Amino acid sequence: MNARRRTSCGALAALLLCVTTMESPRGFALLANKWPNGTVTMQLQLQLGPASGTLIDGATSFNQVAASALSIWNNHSDLVKFAAVQNSTVPRVENDGVNSVFFDSTEFGRRFEGDTLAIATSWYRVSTGAKLEGDVVFNSSKTWNSYRGALRQSNDFNRVALHEFGHILGLDHPDEKGQRVAALMNSEITGLDALTADDIAGGRALYGSGGVTSNISFPPRNEPNDFFNQLIAVYQNQLRAGPVTTYVDPEGIVVWLIEYARYRVGLCDHSTSQTRVFSAIDNTGVYGVCALTPSGTIPFPSRNEGLNFMNALQVKYRDDLRRGAGSSFVDNEGAVVWVLEYLRYRLNACGHGDASTKVFMQIRGQGIQPVCR
Ligand SMILES: [Zn+2]
Repeated sequence: MNARRRTSCGALAALLLCVTTMESPRGFALLANKWPNGTVTMQLQLQLGPASGTLIDGATSFNQVAASALSIWNNHSDLVKFAAVQNSTVPRVENDGVNSVFFDSTEFGRRFEGDTLAIATSWYRVSTGAKLEGDVVFNSSKTWNSYRGALRQSNDFNRVALHEFGHILGLDHPDEKGQRVAALMNSEITGLDALTADDIAGGRALYGSGGVTSNISFPPRNEPNDFFNQLIAVYQNQLRAGPVTTYVDPEGIVVWLIEYARYRVGLCDHSTSQTRVFSAIDNTGVYGVCALTPSGTIPFPSRNEGLNFMNALQVKYRDDLRRGAGSSFVDNEGAVVWVLEYLRYRLNACGHGDASTKVFMQIRGQGIQPVCR
């Protein structure tokens, strides 16, 4: 037989506290095998139901939490995408070419070692390292729930699922490979409840495409910066807006809104766009767009998604970059609406002066102006 089995996470034990260091080099670890490009279908059959019907985080089933964890990984993998089959009834056997995810008191008939919460298996062709199958068995003799934040008495299915699916993709434990990084892929479950930059970098190292080179030209940075400075003056002197708190400086607002818009115009969804912009902010990678922009009307994000991005950017600057509070006259909503509107005119053939004028006419209540093509 030319398929070999490898069990990961023989000892994924629960720990209450873990100290991680941020200054060490990034060092995700990879298993020796990976999936060919395409879809990896996971058969979810996690029927261990919560007694109350609802988990702490509001999910109504472990299948739902697992599907969500798969889609989170999908945000960081271009070449391989998970698909989830909910409430699957496939047989729970190994080396059948089917990827099963389920609760059981043994791992395919073998006893779980010690404190093991879950195991992920990996079947792959020895000659090529191409993965053939990956199953995840969660230990049904443990108590499970799903929540965020500090560890509780019951185990958090969500973070263990994210960890196991990382193994399914081909990631190993960085802390067992001489790395000291903050990572959900470390061998011990801790207060970390989400993928870190290191986990994401690992996923991208395996399956990141680098993205597509955008076919849309955005204006040189000095022009939108100039527009935004004019916008601040209009808010202060004409609209008599009061000062508002901001953690993002004007250049930061403009450059990251443009990057967000560049991904959206390149057909990335909201969460992918935000993840990619934040990767650039964190210096963990700059990615291309998701697809070429089709000809015709250029798609722009909705106001509420742009605002969600802007709010997340403020939090990122405040909490991750630890920027102090500053002051502006343009609030988040104004920044999003009018910078995106300026860009919409620019991407539809208006020059800097024309686009600025048209936006300021809109602000004065003169309605949406025609584009320049
Ligand atoms: Zn593990």
